[in-house]
Amino acid sequence: MAMTERAAIPLRFDLLRVGHCGHPECIAMRGGRWNSVEFPALVGLIDHPREGLVLYDTGYSRHFHRATRSFPECLYRLVTPVSLPPEEELLCQLEDRGIRAGDIGTIVISHFHADHVAGLRDFPRARFVATRAEKMENERRGRFGRARRAYLRELLPDDFEARAIWAPDLPETPMPWPEWGRGWDLLGDGSLVGVNLPGHVASQLGIVFSTEEHGQVFLVGDASWKIEALAENRPPGRVAYTLFADGTSYDRTFAALRDLHASPLAPLIVPSHCHTTWRRVGGTRHVHRA
Ligand SMILES: [Zn+2]
Repeated sequence: MAMTERAAIPLRFDLLRVGHCGHPECIAMRGGRWNSVEFPALVGLIDHPREGLVLYDTGYSRHFHRATRSFPECLYRLVTPVSLPPEEELLCQLEDRGIRAGDIGTIVISHFHADHVAGLRDFPRARFVATRAEKMENERRGRFGRARRAYLRELLPDDFEARAIWAPDLPETPMPWPEWGRGWDLLGDGSLVGVNLPGHVASQLGIVFSTEEHGQVFLVGDASWKIEALAENRPPGRVAYTLFADGTSYDRTFAALRDLHASPLAPLIVPSHCHTTWRRVGGTRHVHRA
């Protein structure tokens, strides 16, 4: 595999909140309360000086409601009731920034759970960067098995495969922290490095990049649900593991992130459903079009 080593290019980055659902805190973090806490669906909006606009996931969308209208998919919506106020819809938030759907050139997909991919159909010109293993596993399952794993085929555009680029096929590049080895050079210039974060599902794509506002940023999808879980070494409750693809590899991924978070070189780690991180860095408008 070819390798590239170049200085990091700072990218502009905003964190958007695109709907939310609720879960008991003790599911997200061991020893938490039974009270329901808000799980925002967070989306990264990244502006690359040459490659243009990149999304990391899409959060919820109206397509989610359509894809869960019949049995057995409706069970998913009953278990995790979703709230998506109109002003939080991704297209609406992009429009507020002068960005049209056709301006989005790349969508990096952390994994194929419906709360991460529900908006893909809204971006007709985007190419998709993802990992294969989870999708392949789910495509072999029946309809009930897919719904149980929050994989709703209807959310994927009909030409998904033709527009997909598989991260493990891309050249490798060093991760900023030696103990993390090498990642995948997603844009071909070392500016956006993809890394596998397995366990929650069979494969999960995290991304690392540099920004002027926050220094290094690491979007970690569902490898941890809350930043407090990493800070306090409190992985998800046991019941959550019954839904994970592989608890042992989840624990390995979680421990690596926990150690990174505790190190002096810690980047800004952004779990996809972390309310605290959203409050800290969300709502800024570094990325916009005139
Ligand atoms: Zn997930």
